[in-house]
Amino acid sequence: MHAAAFAVAGLDWAYIPLLVASEPKMRIQEAVYGLRALGFQGANVTVPHKQTVIPFLDRFNTVVEAIGAVNTISVEADGTLTGDNTDAPGFIRDLQEHHVELEGQNALVLGAGGSARAVVYGLAEAGCYSITILNRTRSKADALVKTIEAFFPSCPVATGVLPREIRSYAEKADLIVNTTSLGMIPHRESTPWDESVALRPDQVVYDLVYNPRQTRFLRFAQEAGAKTISGLGMLIWQGALSFEIWTAQPAPTGAMAEAVEKAMSDHG
Ligand code: NDP
Repeated sequence: MHAAAFAVAGLDWAYIPLLVASEPKMRIQEAVYGLRALGFQGANVTVPHKQTVIPFLDRFNTVVEAIGAVNTISVEADGTLTGDNTDAPGFIRDLQEHHVELEGQNALVLGAGGSARAVVYGLAEAGCYSITILNRTRSKADALVKTIEAFFPSCPVATGVLPREIRSYAEKADLIVNTTSLGMIPHRESTPWDESVALRPDQVVYDLVYNPRQTRFLRFAQEAGAKTISGLGMLIWQGALSFEIWTAQPAPTGAMAEAVEKAMSDHG
């Protein structure tokens, strides 16, 4: 996706995967400082380092402070290391592209891991009326509520246990978002949803899982007539926003989407 974007933008840049060990801990610091020493323009950071890189950055914005995770680092000309998070705006941008209205809506979020933090922040910032977070481990959902309430005191956030409490919250939900890894390859047939609870055509169902594109959850929602959206768009938008941070140029999103589609079809 990024290689395609650099080519379209005429930038002689490369995007490469670099594996950084979690132990010993100093490796993470060395890797972050290494970006500056080696002349990198920036980096994306993924699991399990999204939180652990934060102490080594010179500055970061409010989104990072709220979500507690960085997915994009940029190296300024003077060597300043800045942390950002494009998952939250990438998710919201994809919903906007699909013409989903968020202001005043009731959102039901399944899962409370790293991606849920970005999703819940984005929904609260976009003006959702209420948010309910259901997670297998309820304490994680409760911890997320504390963070969100501190930043958006007027947005009521409730929590419950997944999947047991789906039935209690499904009916009032306008938007349902799966942020769990259930349904992701190789567990194609797993689903976060309680399939004895019906969905409706006026509901929007978003699944962050993008591989496969049509998850069991999305299939179930589609059969009920709900509007369904795969996480592929969020993947592309978070990448596009990283590109814009590094290059200060508009991202060629068409070329990026095409590259992602091709990679997905090449790798099943
Ligand atoms: P985390 O590991 O941080 O969180 C995983 C979540 O899934 C937790 O809420 C966990 O619950 C839940 N979960 C895992 N297994 C089960 C299970 N068997 N039953 C019930 N709940 C379960 O992962 P992320 O939040 O980083 O990622 C989650 C998914 O989102 C992945 O599929 C990832 O690929 C996708 N993703 C997509 C993005 C996109 O751009 N489209 C961006 C980021 C992520 P518990 O807390 O109880 O363990």
